[in-house]
Amino acid sequence: MKRLKFWGWGFEDDVVPQSEIEWMESTWGQRFGVSGFEVTPTPRAEDIRLPAPRLAIPAALTEICTTDHYERVLHSYSKSFPDIIRVYRRECPAPADVVALPRSDNEIAAVLDWCYEMNAAAIPFGGGSSVVGGVVPPSGGEYRGAVSIDMRHFNRVLEIDPVSHCARIQAGTFGPALEAQLKPSGLTLRHFPQSFRCSTLGGWIATRAGGHFATLYTHIDDLVENLRLVTPAGVIESRRLPGSGAGPSPDRMFIGSEGILGIITEAWMRVRPRPSFRATASVRFRDFYRGADAVRMLTQSNLYPTNCRLLDAEEAQYNGLADGTVSVLVVGFESADHPVGEWMKRALEICADHGGSYDPQDPSAEDESHRSGAAGRWRERFMFLPFFKEHMAARNIFRDSYETAITWDRFKDFHADIRAAGLEAIRKATGREGSVTCRFTHVYPDGPAPYLTFHGLSRSAARLLDDYWAVKSAASDAIIAGGGTITHHHAVGREHRPWYDRQRPELFARALGAAKRALDPKGLLNPGVLIDPIGPTASP
Ligand SMILES: Cc1cc2nc3c(=O)[nH]c(=O)nc-3n(C[C@H](O)[C@H](O)[C@H](O)COP(=O)(O)OP(=O)(O)OC[C@H]3O[C@@H](n4cnc5c(N)ncnc54)[C@H](O)[C@@H]3O)c2cc1C
Repeated sequence: MKRLKFWGWGFEDDVVPQSEIEWMESTWGQRFGVSGFEVTPTPRAEDIRLPAPRLAIPAALTEICTTDHYERVLHSYSKSFPDIIRVYRRECPAPADVVALPRSDNEIAAVLDWCYEMNAAAIPFGGGSSVVGGVVPPSGGEYRGAVSIDMRHFNRVLEIDPVSHCARIQAGTFGPALEAQLKPSGLTLRHFPQSFRCSTLGGWIATRAGGHFATLYTHIDDLVENLRLVTPAGVIESRRLPGSGAGPSPDRMFIGSEGILGIITEAWMRVRPRPSFRATASVRFRDFYRGADAVRMLTQSNLYPTNCRLLDAEEAQYNGLADGTVSVLVVGFESADHPVGEWMKRALEICADHGGSYDPQDPSAEDESHRSGAAGRWRERFMFLPFFKEHMAARNIFRDSYETAITWDRFKDFHADIRAAGLEAIRKATGREGSVTCRFTHVYPDGPAPYLTFHGLSRSAARLLDDYWAVKSAASDAIIAGGGTITHHHAVGREHRPWYDRQRPELFARALGAAKRALDPKGLLNPGVLIDPIGPTASP
C-alpha cells in the first residue's frame, strides 16, 4: 500500500506540477500585491522529533502494533490547517506512542483491553483526513500514552445483496477500493466526498460525511442500513432493516460519534446501480443571491438534482469556470433507470425565471456530460485544489474553509455577516485584504449549506497559526451568532469544540456523556473530541 503523506494531502508520491505551483504563486502574489514568497521546505519524517514512546507493546500485540517513526508521525496529525502549520514548523505537541493495525474485531478488542489496562487514550484512525483534529491524540489529561488504532486492514467488501441493493463493507475500506470492489456487480455507493481518495467508510460514518449528492442523500447517514462496532464494553450490532420505528435508532446514535463510543468495524450500506443517464449544465447569474433564489426554487420543486453547486463569482473564476463577473450554478441529474432530460429542462426553466443564462448547447444528456464543459472543469479543479494547501502553508498563506447550513429565510443576511466577519478578521490580522468566497455544497428544501473558503497572507511564518485562528474564530463566532451550525459535514473533532459546545443543548451533552460512560467507562476513546472525557482519567 502507498504511504499517506503526513505533511499534507494525498500520498507520498503525489507531486504538484511546477506549472501549477507557478499558477498558484502568480494568482496569490497578484492578489496580495507581493512579488514573491518565502518558502519553508517540505518536512521529512526525520525532521519531526518525537519523544520515546511512553508505552511498551506487550508480547501478545507485537504482531499488530508498531512504534515505527513514520507511522507515529503520520498518526499524530490530522489534515486540519493548524496541523499542517505544525508539521511545517516541525512541531508535534501530541504524538501517538503506538500505532495498532488490527485485522479482526477480536484484535481491536485486545488493543482496547490493553489501553484499559494501561490507561492509554485510544484513537480510531481511518484515512486520517479529518480537517478538525479528530485523529490527533489528546495533549492533556492523565493518560499514560496514546494508541492510534488504524483500520487499514479492514479493507474489503464482504458481501453483496443484489436483491435489496446493499453491500456489507469493512470500515477501513478507502473510497477507490470500495468502488472498485462494487464495480463488477454494477453497483455503486456513490458517496464521493472531496477526500474520497484518502478516506474510509468508517471515517465517513463516524463523521456524518457529506458526499456526491447535493440533494436528498446528502450525508452518509441515509446510506447506512446497519452497523457493527467494538466498544470497551462489548460488541454492538444493529439489525439490517430498510426502516424501523422501534425507538431511537441505534445506528443514528453511532453515526457521527467521531470515535468516542466505539470503533465501527463494518456496515451494510445501501448501494445502487451505476447511473447510465446523465444531464449536466452550467448556468450563469449576474447576482449571487438571484442564483440562490433559483437554487431555493429548485430544491422546493421536487426535482432533486444530483448536483446543484452554486459558486460565487470569485470562486467560479478561481475554478476556471468564468471570468469573475458571474456566479455559476453547476446542475446535474443522473439515473440508472430513465432519461433525465425532462428534469433538466424544467430545472433550466426555473433558473431562467431567476435571471440565469446558459449556452443552448451546454445541457446534454450524454453519459459523460459530467466530465465535459464547465461541470467537468469544476470537477477536475475540485479534486485538485486540496493539493495546494500545504504549498500555501509553506508560503505563509492560510487557506481553509468554514462550512455551515442555515434556513433560506435567514440565508442572505447570514451569508453577508459571516463573509464580512471573515474578511474583516483577515484585514485585522494580516494588515492586507484577503479573500472569502462561497459555494453551496449541499442544498435542502429549507436551506443551503454554504461553504466559505478563505485566504490570507501572514506577515511571517511565526504569525501564521495565530492569524489563522483569529480568522477561523471570528467566522465561527459569526456562524453561531447567526444561528447556523458550526459544521455541515466536517465534523466537530477538537477544533470545532468551543463552538459546538455553544451550539448543542447542555442536557444533550449530558445524555451523550452518559452513553459514553456505559460504553467507555474510563473515557479513553478519543478523549476531548465531541465532549469532555468522562471517567477516572478526566482532566478538570
Ligand atoms: C481535502 C479534503 C477534502 C474533504 N472533503 C470532504 C467532503 O467533501 N465531505 C466530507 O464530509 N468531509 C470532507 N473532508 C473531511 C474528511 O475527509 C471526512 O471527515 C472523512 O469522513 C474522514 O474520513 P477518514 O476515513 O479519513 O477518517 P479519519 O480522519 O481517520 O477520522 C475521522 C474521525 O472519525 C473517527 N473514526 C475513523 N474511523 C473510525 C471507525 N472505524 N470507527 C469509529 N471512529 C472512527 C476518528 O477517530 C476521527 O474522530 C475532507 C477532508 C480533506 C482533507
